[in-house]
This record gives sequence, C-alpha cells and structure tokens, in this order.
Amino acid sequence: MGQISENYISEAESALLHTYNRYHVVLDKGEDVYLYDIEGKKYLDFVAGIAVFALGYSNEEYKNTIKKQADKILHTSNYYYNVPAISAAKRLKKLSGLDRVFFTNSGAEAVEGAIKTARKYAYLKDGKTDHEIIAMNHSFHGRTMGALSVTGNSHYREAFGPGIGNIKFADYNDFDSVMAQVTDKTCAIIMETVQGEGGLTPATEDFLKKVRKLCDERDMLLILDEIQCGMGRTGYNFAFQKYGIKPDVMTCAKALGCGVPIGAFVMTEKVGQNSLVAGDHGTTYGGNPFACAAADKVLEIFERDDIAGHVKEIAPYMWEKLDELEKKHPSIIEHRGAGLMQGLVFNGPVAPIINKALENGLILINAGSDILRFVPPLIIEKKHVDEMISILDKCIED
Ligand SMILES: *Cc1c(COP(=O)(O)O)cnc(C)c1O
Repeated sequence: MGQISENYISEAESALLHTYNRYHVVLDKGEDVYLYDIEGKKYLDFVAGIAVFALGYSNEEYKNTIKKQADKILHTSNYYYNVPAISAAKRLKKLSGLDRVFFTNSGAEAVEGAIKTARKYAYLKDGKTDHEIIAMNHSFHGRTMGALSVTGNSHYREAFGPGIGNIKFADYNDFDSVMAQVTDKTCAIIMETVQGEGGLTPATEDFLKKVRKLCDERDMLLILDEIQCGMGRTGYNFAFQKYGIKPDVMTCAKALGCGVPIGAFVMTEKVGQNSLVAGDHGTTYGGNPFACAAADKVLEIFERDDIAGHVKEIAPYMWEKLDELEKKHPSIIEHRGAGLMQGLVFNGPVAPIINKALENGLILINAGSDILRFVPPLIIEKKHVDEMISILDKCIED
C-alpha cells in the first residue's frame, strides 16, 4: 500500500465512527467487473459491494439514465406522483408476481415496513397489540431496531436490548422448531429465502412449503427477505420463484438500485388491502425520482437481457470450480449456496485469505469468520471465474 492510501486511511480513522474494521484499500473507480484503488491498482471484484453491483461498473445505459435523471429532478416528495416510481413499481410487480410496492432507502427500512405490515394486518383482525413474529436463528435482516430484533444472531443484538417485543426464534430448515414457537398470537414468520450473512444456506423446499402451508392455514403472513438473494442472484428473478410458492410480503434492496440506495417491500393485493393505509407509514426520500429511475432501468435490463438466465448458465461453472478447490484443499470443509451466492466454509478464520487475495488483486468477503463468500456481479463470464480461482488457489496455499 502506498503513501497516498495510508494518508487517506489515517484521515478516515480520525473522522469516521469506527463501526467497521475496513480492509486497507481506498477504492476509487470501477470498470466492467474490476475495481481500481486510488493508486491505480486493479482488482477483480467478487463482492460487488456485497451483492449490489449486479450489472458491473460499465453499464452505459444505466449510467446515462441516472445522469439524465440528475439533470431533470432528484427529489419531489411522496405527496406527489412521479413517473420513475410508477414505472419501477410496475416492473417490480411483474418480476416478482406480487402486487403492491412501497419504496424505501435501504434493506433494513424495507424489513421495518414488512414488520409493520404484519402487525397491522393482525391488528385489523382482532384489535390486539400483542402479536408475535417468528424469526430464524442465524438470520440477518439489518441494523435498525426492528430489523435487528428479528436478526437471529445475539452477538448483533445483545448491547442494544430491549428490541421490539414478541419475537421468537426457530431453527432454519427445521419445521418442528417453527411449530414449537407458534401460538394464537403469531402474526408472521420472517426468513431469508437463502440465508446470506448467516452462511449461504438455502431454504429446503420441504421446509419452505410447510411454512407456506402453515401460514395459509392460520392466516399468518410469510415474509421472505430477498434483499441479498433476490434480483437474479440465484438464477431466478427472486429466489422464492424456484420453490413454486409466493410470500405474502417480500423485502428487496441491494441490487435493486445497483449502487443507488433503494429498497422496497412488496406484498400481495390481499395484504395491501388489509394492512397499511394513509398515515400509517412514510419516508421522505424513499421512492424519489432519482432512486426510482435507477431501479426502473435496472429492472428493465433484468427483464430484457434475462440477467437471471445468465446466472443460471454461469453459476454451475462457479460451483464446479469451487468444488474442485474444496477437493484440493483440506482446510475447506464445506461448499454451499445457490446461484451466484456461494460460500466456502473453512476450518478457521478466512480473514488472512481475504487479505492475501487483496494483495493479489482479488476482492473477496466473508460471511461469519470462517466462511468465504462469493457474490460477484451477475454479468461475470467463465474467464472471470477462472481468474478468481487461480488467484484464490494460490492464496489458500500460502
Ligand atoms: C444486507 C441485508 C439487509 C440489510 O440491508 P441494508 O440495506 O444494509 O439495510 C437485510 N437483509 C438481508 C438478507 C441482507 O443481506
């Protein structure tokens, strides 16, 4: 690392709140699926800003859209209609098969909205205010108080208690453990369709279908968090589409704006008609014309260019290559995930491998301390997988 970077890093450490242990690199620009640091060093990017930059860094159509929108207008207010929001909502409905959209600024904010939707839906049925939500162990739903309260990792929650009340935890992919938490007060079950931070674990078909049936029988809402696994990441526009079921409420963010901060919670018509009404929920920035112009273009490209279809083609190749790596290195004990959301579980911390990869021009990230996570831009080709594998292979050896 050069002096320029070191200077910036020491300035950062005296100005920014120390809530991240950052890797020692100051990123400056992106091109195709590569990033460049402030000193011009090139890196192959297999993180995509954590499953955000699905279209890579050189999509001119996308960039021109946001430049043009910046010239027109960035923000109005949700008290007025704007065309990009209308268009983006129509596209999101079509891709998800759900009916009503609320745009937010982030994933956590979408989860907050989903929780409020579930509580209001139950409140309208019985007028009570003590409803319970079942969430999953090892889940991750975000850092705001509501989203944190349904995050199944006590390490994230402990210092910030009490969280919002009446949350119960069950084991992911264990239907009996969910049943054990169900009471007359349960109004919703929330889970990721594929657990991300918790370790790249997809829901089993049996589990998800049983939970769907349970929610139908008891008129509880199934909330699927697709913030990381949605938007083509698993080879389907939304991961739940592989299972032949639909959630009542879905949360979406990360790749939705491909870099422009935007999220959404999306629901069925039935839930839309029986939950939040005017005055119940709002946001100043959420759904503004700038963020929605970005999302609208991303959704247009996803549909037109069948980005999910490309993932379906390329993901098995990455799977095969990571499998070969697993066989070669005894320090790798498991390989899991779905689509272009895969993880290698090591028998120890992966931080040294990530740092070594960085030195060698490859950007990788962990999920938990022992899992190496692969969430590259969705437009990668086989040659990028080969390049990643050859760098990583050497880093593991070292
Ligand atoms: C990233 C993530 C969130 C939180 O999104 P933010 O935009 O960081 O608030 C929530 N759920 C899942 C599954 C995520 O991966």
